Amino acid sequence: MDKKDLMEEIRDELLGLTSSPLYEYRTSNNYFPVIGDGSHDAKVVFIGEAPGEKEATTARPFSGRSGKLLDEMLTHIGLSRDSIYITNLVHDRPQDNRDPTKEEIQLYGPYLEKTLQIIQPRVVVMLGRHSMNYLFEKAGIKDKLAPISAMHGKTFEGDLGYGKIALLPLYHPAVGLYNPGKRPELFADFAIIKKFI
Ligand code: URA
Repeated sequence: MDKKDLMEEIRDELLGLTSSPLYEYRTSNNYFPVIGDGSHDAKVVFIGEAPGEKEATTARPFSGRSGKLLDEMLTHIGLSRDSIYITNLVHDRPQDNRDPTKEEIQLYGPYLEKTLQIIQPRVVVMLGRHSMNYLFEKAGIKDKLAPISAMHGKTFEGDLGYGKIALLPLYHPAVGLYNPGKRPELFADFAIIKKFI
């Protein structure tokens, strides 16, 4: 199977994920699961937390307000969405944008891991603590974990099943929305990605 077929398999599984505690919320609101967007050959993959309302309505990750800031930061370092891949740790919208539960993370996380094993990026950028906590454990570097305030902008080496890669935790773009004073720091952190492209 080629990458496209393997990604379609993931999409079909997520569409039929009736065991998810978020399935009923998805279908009763006519929401979509948000699978991911971009190149299946991306060298850099960005991982958010979970879709918000705009994302669940459009099926496109980071298509709302956080996405607008994410796009600005990508443009700032000369990256187009077409050249990267963007997805989330949890693929369905949690009610009222609450944090995903442990159970939801354990259910959806393996789809993220499969996605990464198909794309095989050299750099995984985790936007926020949820994807950082999950992937550091899976990459065998759980002992390196600290609060996101101490981790953002630092690069770590780990293995998600296809060789050594760089893991880069960053603040979630939403931080720049509720705390505009943090934006220069967010932009400065993003500049680190340039080293890898
Ligand atoms: N926040 C996320 O973490 N992911 C999205 O797709 C949108 C907002």
